[in-house]
Amino acid sequence: MTVNQLPKGVLLAALAHPDDESFGAGGTLALYAQRGVQVHLVCATRGEAGQVSAECLQGFDSVADLRVSELRCAAGILGLAGVHFLDYRDSGMSGSSDNQHPRALAAAPVEEVALRMVHFIRLLHPQVIITNDPIGGYKHPDHIAIHKATTKAFHLAGDPAFVDVDGLPPYQPQKLYYQVFSKRALRLAVKILPLLGRDPRHFGRNGDIDIQALVEEGNFPIHARIDFRPVVEKREAAAACHASQLDGGPPRRGLLGWIWRLFGDVEQYMRAYPPPEPGLREKDLFAGVDSR
Ligand SMILES: [Zn+2]
Repeated sequence: MTVNQLPKGVLLAALAHPDDESFGAGGTLALYAQRGVQVHLVCATRGEAGQVSAECLQGFDSVADLRVSELRCAAGILGLAGVHFLDYRDSGMSGSSDNQHPRALAAAPVEEVALRMVHFIRLLHPQVIITNDPIGGYKHPDHIAIHKATTKAFHLAGDPAFVDVDGLPPYQPQKLYYQVFSKRALRLAVKILPLLGRDPRHFGRNGDIDIQALVEEGNFPIHARIDFRPVVEKREAAAACHASQLDGGPPRRGLLGWIWRLFGDVEQYMRAYPPPEPGLREKDLFAGVDSR
């Protein structure tokens, strides 16, 4: 094997819904795929509770079918090596009737979700795993559920005492990161949205994102900044695949586009494992990783 053929590692993104892979971490996923890393996505649900227009739904049997089709479009553009489902159901935002569905991700015991995640970690052998932060980005109950399950699974996967249903041998990933929003951008949004006649406490397609609360509560340290300028077009094209979630327009237009631009061409992460040393500032999630 020549130097160029050496395996360049495996990155696993553990997320809740079709579109989280593009809107949250799309730049990072596309960047590492372009560098030759095998990038896999474990998507816990099929986005069943997403609001979609009748026009978008034409030609599809269900919201889930439509959103999986959008996800496959995005995965192709981002260069993902594989998309895997945990087969839970989208719980919708906090307080919605979807919370009560028997297959709702947010209602499933964290141990059960973690067990399914351990299976994929042992199967795919990622050195690096990324998932949502402890408040699920904007407090979506599914994002919080996948955060908890992935964190648990990260540590369980390497434990020989933990037996997986398929008998896969233990495998310990090396690094775990939580994707976090830029507080600077959120603070700016809180100031500017009222000037545009929008309420920062009721933002988003369903008016259920409280940006003010995110500024107050989500003060997580940033340990890694991933500059995804080399793949910015891929990220935009992948996000555009999720047309049903974009009010019909491309992500760079309209109010969503404006907020989108505030976040810049950098995605930010808090490192959960190994524990960060004071002042840690990484530019590469694979820094220090042994990818043999
Ligand atoms: Zn989501």
